[in-house]
Amino acid sequence: MYRTHTCGELIISNKGEKVTLAGWVQRLREFGGMTFIDLRDRYGITQLVFNMEADADLCMQARKLGREFVIQVTGTVAERSNKNPKMPTGDIEIIAENITVLNSSDIPPFTIEENSDGGDELRMKYRYLDLRRQNVRSNIILRHRMAQEVRKYLDGEGFIEVETPVLIKSTPEGARDFVVPSRLHHGEFYALPQSPQTFKQLLMVAGFDKYFQIVKCFRDEDLRADRQPEFTQIDCEMSFIHQDDILNTFEGLARHLFRQIKGITFSDSFPRMPYDEAMSRYGTDKPDIRFGMCITEMTRKVQGRSFPLFDSAEYVGAICAAGCGAYTRKQLDELTEYVKRPQIGAKGLVYVRIEADGTAKSSVDKFYPPDVLKSFAVITGAGAGDLILMIAGERNHTLNALGELRLEMGKRMGLRDPSVYAPLWVVDFPLLEWDEETKRFYAKHHPFTAPKPEDLEYMISDPGRVHANAYDLVINGTEIGGGSIRIHDGDIQSLMFKTLGFTEEEARHQFGFLLNAFRFGAPPHGGIAFGFDRWAAILGGSDTIRDFIAFPKNNQARDVMIDTPSTIKKEQLDELGIAIKWIENQ
Ligand code: ASP
Repeated sequence: MYRTHTCGELIISNKGEKVTLAGWVQRLREFGGMTFIDLRDRYGITQLVFNMEADADLCMQARKLGREFVIQVTGTVAERSNKNPKMPTGDIEIIAENITVLNSSDIPPFTIEENSDGGDELRMKYRYLDLRRQNVRSNIILRHRMAQEVRKYLDGEGFIEVETPVLIKSTPEGARDFVVPSRLHHGEFYALPQSPQTFKQLLMVAGFDKYFQIVKCFRDEDLRADRQPEFTQIDCEMSFIHQDDILNTFEGLARHLFRQIKGITFSDSFPRMPYDEAMSRYGTDKPDIRFGMCITEMTRKVQGRSFPLFDSAEYVGAICAAGCGAYTRKQLDELTEYVKRPQIGAKGLVYVRIEADGTAKSSVDKFYPPDVLKSFAVITGAGAGDLILMIAGERNHTLNALGELRLEMGKRMGLRDPSVYAPLWVVDFPLLEWDEETKRFYAKHHPFTAPKPEDLEYMISDPGRVHANAYDLVINGTEIGGGSIRIHDGDIQSLMFKTLGFTEEEARHQFGFLLNAFRFGAPPHGGIAFGFDRWAAILGGSDTIRDFIAFPKNNQARDVMIDTPSTIKKEQLDELGIAIKWIENQ
């Protein structure tokens, strides 16, 4: 046997036992005649002791060990005089009697401890060393546990895990595809799946009834912060269901994961908020409902008093920051700068503070006499010591800006407690989204999403007002999953393609296989997909999905460890029938 125990399990009750451990030398310290080594493996760290007086040869041998050497050690478990209550093994140490060097190591490029001195790029380049760090490893183990729990729950609910192909034809999620050239068919390409969307629907046509898969998806998008070109989804589909069945089943999954992984039980069912309400009260389709501070529309209240910014605006809205009435000029200027940043793009910020005596002071006193300002307080629910913040402009844009401001104030006021989880369903999304640039509608979700039956009549006359049977699961302001009831009726599908500006031919070319399948008895069906990396990050208490992916890409979509993307040999290109067209400045 290589080892009798791991480095994470010996405690005081093992005192006096003769044991053998194996692992990596994390740290070596010399104290007079004593040498201490922290020996690390996946399970923890155990202290080894070498005493010059007792065995000079062994102690000299130990002193020659370098960081990250792999050793096997035999010794006796002893009680430590200097206990470390922070370590599970902190009550004991091993009085070493024999060591074998299993392998030496180069000096690692950064310290492999909880707090590393390695920068991001360096740690990614040597990710296998980074993964030796306990905190990084525990993220990957959390992900593993989640995957097991997802399988356990869904299997228990009768779902069947089916693998779908990776070399496919373009899918309908709307991002750019990664493509793979075909050697056997020059000039032809596979696409990597943006999701298994069409396959899971085909599995419903095939009668599988309940499907899931923990699956890699690929989207060649411009990288915003914390996006990965390849990511993992928990992908699911069900037949003979209504929207409620899906929400209930997957609320069950969310509850199961929170219970098993975090020990959290939610007493109430998750709120279900229509998209329109999320937008008008929170300025976003992924509201953080850990706190209130909802948006109040003020348009009619503020107009007609000769304040040009408000009078010319399509929409004026406000939030009330409780207890922030004492904000200084400097703090208010900071907030104004915050909402004027290009990403938010508000024209300005108007404030009204409610003083301790109930009088109102505002940056627009000139236009609004005290009694009018007081009426603002009534509408927004502001009381003594509170601060009303107002933004004006185009409706959606202004709501978004107020939503961002609300989050910023929530952060400043400590209302976004990371130990609190507030899940909700956002439902009734619009079916379509108008794009000003190309002057056409796009599917908000994807083209197989079913319109609400009661809105069908507007599909031609006023497509923008059609709502969909589509839903998102949102936790603490982050969308972690979304899906929809699908169209299973050929006529409605044709209508949808028409509204999206597809000719019949284009629809056939791209999705003919699915449309064909639907002619052979497609059951009513619907599904959902969750961002597995994101969900792991949330349960792990982090904002960064990269921390929960064993081998992630950096924010330029590069894997700096294996150094890819990279060029390929001329022979490979020739075999593929591909010539590279170099474009200057690219
Ligand atoms: N395929 C969708 C996505 O990846 C989810 C779904 O509709 O099930 O976003």
